Amino acid sequence: MSDCLFCKIATKQIPSSFLFEDDDVCAFRDIAPQAPVHILVIPKRHFSTVNEVTDFAIIGKMASVLKDLAHKEGIDQRGYRLVMNCNPEGGQSVYHIHMHLLGGTQLGGGMTGL
Ligand code: 5GP
Ligand code: ZN
Repeated sequence: MSDCLFCKIATKQIPSSFLFEDDDVCAFRDIAPQAPVHILVIPKRHFSTVNEVTDFAIIGKMASVLKDLAHKEGIDQRGYRLVMNCNPEGGQSVYHIHMHLLGGTQLGGGMTGL
């Protein structure tokens, strides 16, 4: 997807500092952090929303990468949140799937709100 922001990050057309990268995914800090630790992991392959995903191994991979990064950031025992937003009512703003790692503070209760 030539005009997709996260494809440009994944292909390094937009320079970014990756916290993790392999053939399938890359992880980087959110530009507008909503918590002291706010990291995004994206697949290198473009999927606009979770609705387009057919092989959910990629979602497991993304969760696994963020679990390891939570440990590296020192928040795994305190706790953190993994979030994927889908479509407008789910609060998705970038239409290349991504999973958020949020932590480093006491997060709000309930399921809503980043
Ligand atoms: P969504 O609302 O789609 O679940 O999350 C998109 C996230 O991408 C937001 O938290 C937003 O701050 C982040 N974001 C948007 N543009 C950029 C960017 O250019 N670089 C980085 N690192 N994060 C971005
Ligand atoms: Zn994309």
